[in-house]
Amino acid sequence: MNLRTLANPRILDQPTYTPGKPSELVADEYGLSVDEIIKLASNENPWGASPNAIRSGKDALKSVHLYPDGSGTALIKKLSEKFKLPNNQFILGNGSNEIIELLGHVFLEKGDEVIFGEHAFAVYRLVTILMGGTPVSVEMPNLKHDLEAFLVSITDRTKIIFLPSPNNPTGTANSNEEILHFIENLPDHVILCFDEAYAEYLESPTDLIPSINSGKKIICLRTFSKIHGLAGLRLGYGYGSPEMIQLLQKARQPFNANSIAQSAAIGALEDESWVIQCRRRNLIGLKQMETGLGELGLSFIESSANFILVQVGNGQRAFDELQKQGVITRPLPNKLSQYLRISIGTEIENEKALHALAQIMSSLASA
Ligand SMILES: *Cc1c(COP(=O)(O)O)cnc(C)c1O
Repeated sequence: MNLRTLANPRILDQPTYTPGKPSELVADEYGLSVDEIIKLASNENPWGASPNAIRSGKDALKSVHLYPDGSGTALIKKLSEKFKLPNNQFILGNGSNEIIELLGHVFLEKGDEVIFGEHAFAVYRLVTILMGGTPVSVEMPNLKHDLEAFLVSITDRTKIIFLPSPNNPTGTANSNEEILHFIENLPDHVILCFDEAYAEYLESPTDLIPSINSGKKIICLRTFSKIHGLAGLRLGYGYGSPEMIQLLQKARQPFNANSIAQSAAIGALEDESWVIQCRRRNLIGLKQMETGLGELGLSFIESSANFILVQVGNGQRAFDELQKQGVITRPLPNKLSQYLRISIGTEIENEKALHALAQIMSSLASA
């Protein structure tokens, strides 16, 4: 008997998430040394984690023979102070991606509709299909979320709406007014997952705590993978009403957040100045890229995050050519195939990326 016939039929059509390419792989493929490769493919923090986070993570290694605190007590206490919300309004995840999956486990039944933007973060669709939900994709004119169109797409079967702000891969964000107006108009049977993976890059992120407190069914997701520079440790968190958190807790593994990650995250939260510094450096890097791209005559989408979508004509080809120059970026599927997503790096990395783009311009033009 063919093993595939035994599989849950939804798995057979399930696309596989393609992550950014690791530097070691590219080095091998092109005979380059790892040191000369720059990876601007996964929106990581190019300045790394706060030294305080690294110190805390290292300290935790001493107790690595013990299971982690399954309730994440110390870290959740820190989060609770930061957001001025009680402990029972937080959940930790093995990356915030895990919490997206928990939402599917807890809420999705066959036929439930899940709304997201056509160019939104790819994981929303993967989880929806995996859990038997029906994806409802909403057009994004100007590559921005059209929240009026979201409202129009809601039916009696709508269960979850995913709204990332800023969005990955477009880098676009809706204004606070737009988002709050949208939430005012959400019907009572709909859950909003507000994905704030890049919120720390915004000057004034949308505050949904008043909406949560007023009874709206909202789960906000944040991560230590982006501005906090701890992507390798896999840690994210969600906050919402006590009822929301209690339901999500039921679906998770007992020790989903490892002890080193929990400890490093506490260290990261203690060093707010690192976050402020990285936000400022990222803004400078964004400007540097925008100016450089302008000089090359390349258009781009205005970004509120730590990456930028650049219009290159043939994204896959530009990706291949840049890789030969030791610069790893991210090509995008389908309707975004004319773009390349480039993460903002250090000043030197940005310069190298712009230089490599200049080198390949002639081959792009002849594409
Ligand atoms: C990177 C990212 C995440 C975070 O993923 P983790 O699992 O926490 O590493 C979540 N949402 C979006 C839109 C992202 O780009």
